[in-house]
Amino acid sequence: MTAMLTGRVVRPGDADYTEASRGWNHLFIHRPAAIVFACSTEDVVNALTWSRHQGLAVRVRGGGHALEGWSGVDDGVVIDVSGMKSVTIDAEAHTATVGAGINQLEAVTGLSKAGFVAPTGTEGSVGLAGATLGGGFGLLTRAYGMASDNLLAAEVVVAAPDGGAEVIIADEQNNPDLLWALRGAGNGNFGIVTSLTYRIHPLAQAIFVVATWRGLTDLEAVFEAWQRCAPYTDNRLTSQLEIEGDSFSLHAALAGGTEAEALQLLSPIVSVSTPAVVVQDASWADIYAGFQIPLAEDPANWKFSSQFFTEPLPPEAVRIIAKSMAEAPAGCNYFTNAFGGAVADSEPSGGSAFAHRGALFYAEPGAGWGVRGGAPASDEDTAAALAWVAQVDAALAPFANGAYVNVPNAGMPEWESAYWGSNVARLRQIKATYDPDNVFSYQQSITAT
Ligand SMILES: Cc1cc2nc3c(=O)[nH]c(=O)nc-3n(C[C@H](O)[C@H](O)[C@H](O)COP(=O)(O)OP(=O)(O)OC[C@H]3O[C@@H](n4cnc5c(N)ncnc54)[C@H](O)[C@@H]3O)c2cc1C
Repeated sequence: MTAMLTGRVVRPGDADYTEASRGWNHLFIHRPAAIVFACSTEDVVNALTWSRHQGLAVRVRGGGHALEGWSGVDDGVVIDVSGMKSVTIDAEAHTATVGAGINQLEAVTGLSKAGFVAPTGTEGSVGLAGATLGGGFGLLTRAYGMASDNLLAAEVVVAAPDGGAEVIIADEQNNPDLLWALRGAGNGNFGIVTSLTYRIHPLAQAIFVVATWRGLTDLEAVFEAWQRCAPYTDNRLTSQLEIEGDSFSLHAALAGGTEAEALQLLSPIVSVSTPAVVVQDASWADIYAGFQIPLAEDPANWKFSSQFFTEPLPPEAVRIIAKSMAEAPAGCNYFTNAFGGAVADSEPSGGSAFAHRGALFYAEPGAGWGVRGGAPASDEDTAAALAWVAQVDAALAPFANGAYVNVPNAGMPEWESAYWGSNVARLRQIKATYDPDNVFSYQQSITAT
């Protein structure tokens, strides 16, 4: 039977082609043969079947935030699931089943209306599925684990042996090895996830603390206090450091509790010098919505590099961060997120491919430059941003232990073991079972051999 494309199909020459081809990071521009905006699992099945019959490469796209542009492709088909936005909450079972197109802000908002939360990353416009399939950490991570730890089941469109596509379920009873792989290694590797079922958590209220230090004078002392406290403190508390320009901030969320408790737990950090401290007591959805930055204000181009640390950084490494920030081009930043807590304590039933449970914290040097919707960035600005990120990454590499697949390090040798450690061999076996023809393939996708 001849396959047909269904859903909204955009092709070269269509008025909305440029917009439809583009991901969030304008550093990478692709020219696909078609972008298929799927509204249903059937649209996805048809798109995958059609692409295979035509011999065209496929990429899966949700929120479109792939940092290296790997959800786009030249001359192939982008299967975009961002229109699949269903949400069904089972308040008694403490589960939610969502379409693969929901973004993190929509998830946080929708769950909150029913009195629940789930851990996600911090950027609202990132796809929930895209974040979950590579791990997914944020300000509720130490309380409830990675987003992927809370993934109970998924509906997945895989490449069928007959050259078409078929729908399968991955849960603890059906294809449990695929569920294991989707929890931390599922981005564009095994199939197209069309719906996800999560464990959700009742939470009426949270405390959010932002402490800001002006100048970089106190950075070394604050970093040292943070890395000795944040990964070990009460599991309800997750915190991040964000260093940018000539100031830096601590962002911390306490999942349920009082202002006094939050400030007490953070006192080893906020007692360094005299930061400006702002405290909010609100629903998690209000806190989350409050720290979103409108997309139009984001720079057009981005580069990040990811590192996990399993030991506190020695003073010379903290000095590298402080010196690098003092010398950074405009728009560069250094970001950290504390681990430990539930990530270290509790692996989900059935396990997971996420390999960084022993991390004390995650960190990334990042750069954003160029004006969204404006003239292209100059080659000099692009070169300076890329060079700064590469230089910070290289200087801290001797202290790092692993990298994060959701913030991929393009060009990194040994990237598979950096992302998944000793889980690589099992992931290759699972790839051979579910995608033996390597239909789902990109620069750093898992291969069967
Ligand atoms: C500004 C910004 C902030 C971020 N902050 C955080 C953070 O706080 N915490 C964190 O953990 N991560 C964070 N990330 C990383 C983020 O989790 C990844 O970029 C994520 O993969 C993006 O998902 P997406 O759906 O938006 O992107 P897409 O480009 O749509 O997809 C990303 C990858 O996932 C695959 N994919 C997407 N949907 C599916 C699907 N339904 N089935 C199979 N494969 C799929 C794509 O093929 C691609 O390989 C951040 C990224 C950005 C750009």
